[in-house]
Amino acid sequence: MEVPLSSISLDGREAANVLDALEAGWLSGSGSYVEAFEQAIARRVGREHVVAVNSGTSALELVLLALGIGRGDEVIVPALTFVAPAAATRAVGATPILCDIRASDWTIDPELVRRLIGPRTKAAIVVDVLGHPCDFDALADLGLPVIEDAAEAHGARYRDQPAGSFGIASIFSFHANKPVSTGEGGAIATNDPQLATAVRVLKNHGMRRERPYWHDVVGKSFHMTNLTAAVGLAQAERWESLTAARDRVATEYLGRLAKTSVVPRPVSGDVHCACWLHTITVPDRDRVVSLLRSRGVDARAIWPALSSLPLYRPSAPYPCPVAERIAGAALWLPTWADMPTETIEYVAAAVVAALGIVDA
Ligand SMILES: *Cc1c(COP(=O)(O)O)cnc(C)c1O
Repeated sequence: MEVPLSSISLDGREAANVLDALEAGWLSGSGSYVEAFEQAIARRVGREHVVAVNSGTSALELVLLALGIGRGDEVIVPALTFVAPAAATRAVGATPILCDIRASDWTIDPELVRRLIGPRTKAAIVVDVLGHPCDFDALADLGLPVIEDAAEAHGARYRDQPAGSFGIASIFSFHANKPVSTGEGGAIATNDPQLATAVRVLKNHGMRRERPYWHDVVGKSFHMTNLTAAVGLAQAERWESLTAARDRVATEYLGRLAKTSVVPRPVSGDVHCACWLHTITVPDRDRVVSLLRSRGVDARAIWPALSSLPLYRPSAPYPCPVAERIAGAALWLPTWADMPTETIEYVAAAVVAALGIVDA
């Protein structure tokens, strides 16, 4: 059996919406699906303003630009994450400062963030890593703007508040392998009307609706197309079922791998960790991954810690031993909403077989 890492779930409404947008002849980012998609997300995360853009990384960049962050400024980011928070920080000319994570839930360590705050620190981008919300209570009184990167956390909750509702602004990604997907895409969610307006102006060439072709700031062209939003609206309307379906896959994996040397990613008591990709740690990780791949299972080692990439190593004022240890031990198992039970069974059996070989 060939098992991909991820696969998209479509139910027919995506195609119908795209056809409708095509027939209306409205393809660009000012089409009506974009606004409908933004409102659908706003309702789900309880934010007043949502701005759809072409990627999650663009969303981060726009928030940093709207906050006036640039050359000479520092932004604290976690050492264990997809690269986007560090890359977006560099893209606006600022310096990312890497912060280690907590072993207890793999999210950024608020105590270590505090230690890294200096005169140049302008914000922290905190990542709901692998669907696990950060410790937002502890992050609330740092005295600096917190940007929530909820790119992997659709459907997650922290004390009954949805991921995407924390900090001065949150961002989502709708990349093809994310729980709610448009292929490529992203969004900014905020309750701050000025920040929302600033982001809208910056994403649209630095142009205000009231004054076309007048540019006070250098903007970007980070639009989400109406076709992409047509897919997005159909996906957003299934937000709860798409995320619950991934949680079901995680539950099945947990049950099938309970009596093995597999350790699932840890979860704090006060959160609902939404499953993005089911993540486990195993002994001899690289060997387990290659044994799984030899059985057609597209399991993958998770990202290296940013502190071990030559590009970002100079960004870590202190070592990041927790992030580096987890980055060396964790792997992703194939996970998607419509994953059949037989496929989950096949993957779990392949994990058990691989562990039998490496434990021997
Ligand atoms: C996927 C992801 C992003 C954004 O990715 P794009 O491909 O730019 O949409 C940002 N942050 C994290 C943590 C991610 O996993």
